[in-house]
Amino acid sequence: MVDPILDPESVARLRRMLLDWYDAHRRDLPWRGSRDPYAIWVSEIMLQQTRVAVVIEHYQNFLERFPSLPALALASEEDVLALWSGLGYYRRARMLHNAAQFVMEHQNGVLPSTAAELRLLPGIGGYTAAAIASIAYGERIGVVDGNVERVICRMQDWPAVGRAAGARLRRSIDTLVNQLVHPKRPGDFNQALMELGATLCTPRSPQCLACPVSVDCSTRGEHKTAPRRAMLSTEIGCALSVRSTAHAHSSQLEVLLEQRPASESVMPGMWQLPLLRDPHVPVGDVRMAVRHAIMQVNYYVRVRTVLAEDVDALTRPGGERRWVPQVEAASMALTGLARKILTRAHLLAPPVPRPSFKALQSNSSAGTASADPIG
Ligand code: SF4
Repeated sequence: MVDPILDPESVARLRRMLLDWYDAHRRDLPWRGSRDPYAIWVSEIMLQQTRVAVVIEHYQNFLERFPSLPALALASEEDVLALWSGLGYYRRARMLHNAAQFVMEHQNGVLPSTAAELRLLPGIGGYTAAAIASIAYGERIGVVDGNVERVICRMQDWPAVGRAAGARLRRSIDTLVNQLVHPKRPGDFNQALMELGATLCTPRSPQCLACPVSVDCSTRGEHKTAPRRAMLSTEIGCALSVRSTAHAHSSQLEVLLEQRPASESVMPGMWQLPLLRDPHVPVGDVRMAVRHAIMQVNYYVRVRTVLAEDVDALTRPGGERRWVPQVEAASMALTGLARKILTRAHLLAPPVPRPSFKALQSNSSAGTASADPIG
């Protein structure tokens, strides 16, 4: 493989064609058009390994609750995870929260403006740093995600980027994108290339006839794309245990939830439904069946109603358990699966109103992240 050399005329044409197409056809996404580095940062972290439709559902809620970096830094980890619930890959939420606290403590609450400085922050890698720097601050730097890798490999007829792809190939893609990036509209150029990969140059069926850069593409639909990694599948059972407790003049429903131990490598500290000892629930006892994908695993979940007195006999011992009032459950850091099941069972009430950021600020003597450490 040779390093890419592009003549200035093709570079200028490609930039023009791509940006014209982007200006006319880009999707209207809630984070588009913002130059607020904090909002761009949140969107870029959410978009990693998560479908755009799922991010749209969460992005605005998250920004309403944490409209600025100080608001996020002051929040409790429980609150951040609750707002992240359903997006998966919860480590991202913890890293985002940690980094916001770090910026409050060490950078006066201001995100650095260059990719090189952004990369020094905890949890911000090369991709996120380049995305924030180019979109928010106009730095001339290329952004390379999976979509961009695919587009470039197809255009150049380079081997598909897969697990076995060498560092040399990745370096070549990086070099080329940095040569191509538009000097005056770097953020738009980067988003346009990613948009092309997400909407036209898709993994299975590229729409080359509609592609704005087809004239500069060496393969036009003939590129050998790396085979999709097979999903694993497994069966589990969940216990849906609900009880009614009476108060002076009313009663309320409570649902039994279990906190995943802090030692778990996946979703530590998140709240889930207790797991059944036997996932093979008799057909007559299945309350609902749910499919839930986490990373490369498809979970086929059978949910069974379990009476409070049968919980110990039917469920596996796990983390700490609590009977949670229905009105509180929605604002807890639920796993995506627990949220899905409780929603389908009509057991999730609207979240309890939370204190506003202003209230948090006035209650905080220091007014910085150190006043509200991760808990
Ligand atoms: S011409 Fe086809 S393969 Fe080439 S970049 Fe466009 S959509 Fe992808």
